[in-house]
Amino acid sequence: MKKAKRSERWILGGVVPLIFSISAKASGPLCATVFSDVHFSKMDDKVTDKQVAVFKKVIDDLNASLGGLAVPKGAEIQVFIEHSAPVADPLEMSVKAGVRYVNTIPSVGIARFKSKPKNEDLKNYYKTPSFSVPILAHEYGHLIFNENYGPREPIWRDTIEGFKKLLPVLAEKNQELDAIELEVNKVFGQMSGEMTPEKRIGLIVKINELQNEAGKISDEIFELQAPFKGVFDRISPYNEFFADVVAVLYTGNSGIIDRSVSFTRKMQGNNIYTKGALQSDKERDFKNQVKHDEDYEEHGYFSLVRNGVWDSYLASPSNRTKKRGEIMEAIFSAVAGETSRVIRNPTPVFMKAEATWKELNRSLLEAIDREMAVRGIKKLK
Ligand SMILES: [Zn+2]
Repeated sequence: MKKAKRSERWILGGVVPLIFSISAKASGPLCATVFSDVHFSKMDDKVTDKQVAVFKKVIDDLNASLGGLAVPKGAEIQVFIEHSAPVADPLEMSVKAGVRYVNTIPSVGIARFKSKPKNEDLKNYYKTPSFSVPILAHEYGHLIFNENYGPREPIWRDTIEGFKKLLPVLAEKNQELDAIELEVNKVFGQMSGEMTPEKRIGLIVKINELQNEAGKISDEIFELQAPFKGVFDRISPYNEFFADVVAVLYTGNSGIIDRSVSFTRKMQGNNIYTKGALQSDKERDFKNQVKHDEDYEEHGYFSLVRNGVWDSYLASPSNRTKKRGEIMEAIFSAVAGETSRVIRNPTPVFMKAEATWKELNRSLLEAIDREMAVRGIKKLK
C-alpha cells in the first residue's frame, strides 16, 4: 500500500498547498471591503476595522512596490479572529490570516500537533502581529507570482486550470477518507480486554479492510494528482524563493522568515510532517547560510541564491526602499525565466541531485544579475 499523501495536505509556514489545497471555506465572509484589486473579508464578526487595517497596510505597501508587475486581480485576504499562521490558496487567489494565533486551522480543518504552546509564547503572539505579518507578505508573494507568471507561461496556466477542475473530485475522495478514519476509530473504540478472541479477530479484520480501502483511495488521489505534481514540484522552489524575497524586501530583515516560521513551529511543538524542518528554516535566512538540506526541501532549495542576492543587492537599505519595485520586478523576471526553462526542459530535471541543485542555484543567480544589470542596479560587491 502506498503511503497516504493526505497528511501532507497542510504544512506549516507558508507552503503553497496547491496539491493539497482542497479545503472548503469555513464560512462565507461577513462583509468585504475592496481595496484596489484586493478584497478584505472579515471571517468573524469579532474582527474590527482596525485589525483589518493592519493587514491592509501590508498589502497596500506591497502593491505599491511591484514595479512593473501586476497586482493580483480579485485577490482576497480573509481575516479570521483566530487562525494558525497565514496560508495562501493560489487557486482561489486568497490568503487566510488571523488576528490571533491558534493551533487550529479553521479554514483547513486539520490540527494535529505534538504539544500545546506555552502560554508565554501565545502572549507574545497576541501582543504583536510581527510574526504573522512577514508570513502574510510571503503568502501574498505567492499570489503575485501566480498573477504574473500565468500570462507568460501557458504550461503553468494549463496546470492551474486543470488542477482546479480536479478539486471537487479530490474533495470527495478526501471526504471518503475522513469517513473511513471515523469508522476505524469507532471499531478501535469497541476493543476491550474482556472480549473473546473471536470478537477481537473480527474487529481486527474489519480494521484491516477499512485500511485497505483507505489505501486504495489514497492511491487514486495520488494517481489523479500525478500529472500535475511534476510541474508543481519543479515550480515550488522558485515560487517559495520569490515569496521569501517579497517578505524580506518588505521587512528589510534577512532572517525574518526563519524567525517567523521557527516561532510558529515552536508554538506548534514542531511540525510532525516536515522532515528537517528547523534546518530548512535556517536556509531561508538570506544572510546566515548553512549547509543545504540534504532533502533539497522546496522552501530552502535556493539557499545559495538567497545568500547571493542579499550580498549583491538586498544588503543595501536604500536598494530595499528606493529600488524595491525594480528589484522585485528583476527577481521575478529571473525566477520566471528560470522556472520556464526547467519546466520546458525536454528531458526530466532531477531537482534533488546535488549537481542539479548547484547548477540551478548558479543559473538563477546569474539570471538575477542580468535582470538587475538591465535595470541599472549595480552589485554591492
Ligand atoms: Zn510559501
